Amino acid sequence: MPIHEKSLIRPENLKVHETLAIDGIDVSGHWSTFIETRVVPDYNENLELEIAAFPGGSKIHRCFQCGSCTNACTVNAIEPRFNPRYWIYLIRMGMEQELLRDKDIIWQCVSCHKCTNICPRSVEPEGVMKATALWLEDKGYVPKSPAHVFDEEFSRQVIERGKIEDTEVLHKFLSKTKQPLVQDWLVAIMWGIARRLPVKWGIKTALAQVFKPKARRWKNVRSAISDYIYEEDEMRRQKLQTIAAARTSQTPQTHLEAAE
Ligand code: SF4
Ligand code: SF4
Repeated sequence: MPIHEKSLIRPENLKVHETLAIDGIDVSGHWSTFIETRVVPDYNENLELEIAAFPGGSKIHRCFQCGSCTNACTVNAIEPRFNPRYWIYLIRMGMEQELLRDKDIIWQCVSCHKCTNICPRSVEPEGVMKATALWLEDKGYVPKSPAHVFDEEFSRQVIERGKIEDTEVLHKFLSKTKQPLVQDWLVAIMWGIARRLPVKWGIKTALAQVFKPKARRWKNVRSAISDYIYEEDEMRRQKLQTIAAARTSQTPQTHLEAAE
């Protein structure tokens, strides 16, 4: 029988006998490919609720597994293990240990939004990928990812001033992730920009690095955004606490009710 979606089966779970005869028939090599039996004993029945509590994850329950997101995914095209549809399936099934096998690549979503654009169920898979990456960090399964460090610096500048300075974002990102500030690709980009940038824009950019201008009347907006972020964080913290409490004291059915 052909093995559908063979790419989704881990190489270590495929067994091939170099020499094997069954009932006198030679099925050596490729013909004796077997999938090793696996038992999943530890479901996390709250996994979907936990991930839905993080920003971007709230529509995960809408997925009907059509696979369009993975088919359109920029990262999947170069890294077949990066599979949003499959991870959403694992999350909805509560297969936490299975999901953890890919914990080091989930953060690599480049936020191109092709998946979100194509999803027929408005799941917003890009958001689900971000929520999953944050959940992995929150649970202590992975350290803070470079993507998270970048997002934090980007958001910090937006909240602080209502605008960002690209070179400052990059400089802070490279410093915080302990990467060299001078890299070949960066020099090539900077050189390309410098050659085409009108002089007055060059001066404006340099001055912005020093004086860090803010958007007009930003103070009130900043305070509103800060309040909103605080309230969202608090709500998420409480929701996760409710889910954890329900997990220890109630049946799976009432977990869902408790988190709503
Ligand atoms: S495109 Fe949407 S509905 Fe289809 S598998 Fe992806 S998330 Fe699910
Ligand atoms: S946003 Fe992320 S998950 Fe979606 S298509 Fe782009 S890289 Fe893939």
